[in-house]
Amino acid sequence: MAAAAALRYLRQLPDRRVTPESADLSALSGLDEPFPSAPMEPAEVIKLMDHLGTPATVATSGPRFFGFVMGGTLPAALAASWLAAAWDQVASSWTASPIGAAVEKLALRWLLEALGLPPQCGAGFVTGGTMANFTALAAARHALLAREGWDVEARGLAGSPPITVLVSEEAHPSVRKSLGLLGFGRHTPISLPVDQQGRIRTDSIPDHSGPTIICAQAGNVNTGAVDPLSDICSKVAGTGAWVHVDGAFGLWAAASPGRADLIKGIDRADSWATDAHKWLNVPYDSGVAIVRDPEPLQAAMAVNASYLAVDPDRQPRDYTPELSRRARGVEIWAALKSLGREGLEDLVERCCRHAKRFADVLSAHGYRVLNDVVLNQVLVDFGGREATDQVARALQDDGTCWCGTTDWQGHHAMRISVSSWETSDADVDRCLDVMLRVASEARTSPHERGRL
Ligand SMILES: *Cc1c(COP(=O)(O)O)cnc(C)c1O
Repeated sequence: MAAAAALRYLRQLPDRRVTPESADLSALSGLDEPFPSAPMEPAEVIKLMDHLGTPATVATSGPRFFGFVMGGTLPAALAASWLAAAWDQVASSWTASPIGAAVEKLALRWLLEALGLPPQCGAGFVTGGTMANFTALAAARHALLAREGWDVEARGLAGSPPITVLVSEEAHPSVRKSLGLLGFGRHTPISLPVDQQGRIRTDSIPDHSGPTIICAQAGNVNTGAVDPLSDICSKVAGTGAWVHVDGAFGLWAAASPGRADLIKGIDRADSWATDAHKWLNVPYDSGVAIVRDPEPLQAAMAVNASYLAVDPDRQPRDYTPELSRRARGVEIWAALKSLGREGLEDLVERCCRHAKRFADVLSAHGYRVLNDVVLNQVLVDFGGREATDQVARALQDDGTCWCGTTDWQGHHAMRISVSSWETSDADVDRCLDVMLRVASEARTSPHERGRL
């Protein structure tokens, strides 16, 4: 029954409204009851979930959701996730799940190859970009302090040699949050100024001495811009600074040889954070923390207990904050296996092409595109804050597609993020029709309408 309901959902997904109707949201109160004392048949539970839950979803995995940076779910990845849920494997060790451990190892090898990163890197399969930043930065913290003769896992940070942390002014908030969780504080890092696209200005990196972490980014969440990674790595070469790259979605640009220039130098960093649930289009939740030298990652993450078997092969639990967790590598493996190198490149290029078309058509109609569309992100100013908000609201109410708003260097903008494998040329045309219609209505502002 769950499978049938899921298939029905997927069939309707490309045609349904992106946001739920308000009646469907009100109906959610039907779930609100005291904790029942009597059991219910499992099939009845699922029926209730489908009846009230399905209509109250947002079609974020459909082809016309352009909010945040979300991505849909590739058929192979979704189906793999269903089967893996039935397996219910704990991917902590080889002993607990040979398939879970084996598939992670393979997925890692393929990922490193697809993203052009050194083959000896270690990695942890975590819940998302935030935890990937946290995990990779924990490895950085370990490595830098170990060089100073300080075992941070054993002794903590109190009294440790100081680490200077430099963070792009445009870093995703999850980077500062991770730094906070690691005991560095969210506000203590030095902010590095950026250019008009949100890229770190290399000349602004101060001379530094002693243990230093630099947090750069591949894929600004507003503009899609990538920091000048090659210049940054050259500038700090020989200083022992640890360069971390948050590439939650932007790292995937490396899967397209056509974008090699944009991502140049990516392989020179010390660690990377990325999401699989965004551009790779696997189901939530899935991110990967990648570290050039697996040793500090393992030192920061491994647990030892007498009841845990010591297996000779790679133990997934040695690389993640979690001990018990699901076998996330399964969906990543299935996605990469079903796409192949060509399919992955095509997925990245297709999203970028759609983004470019949104930008080209909207600017041809006189609306201002604020960013260089180098990736899958577009920022559009429809003529000031009020008009832009009005367009975004009208678009959201219409239900054909969904875009959010943002502020970018003094401008208010609507943000279009194309991250789904399923978005077609026809979807883009259909959305552009609606965007142009609501934008022309907004152009006739209430003030002007009053005068007409
Ligand atoms: C989405 C995003 C994150 C956070 O990732 P989650 O998977 O939501 O935890 C971090 N950095 C960037 C650039 C992102 O786009």
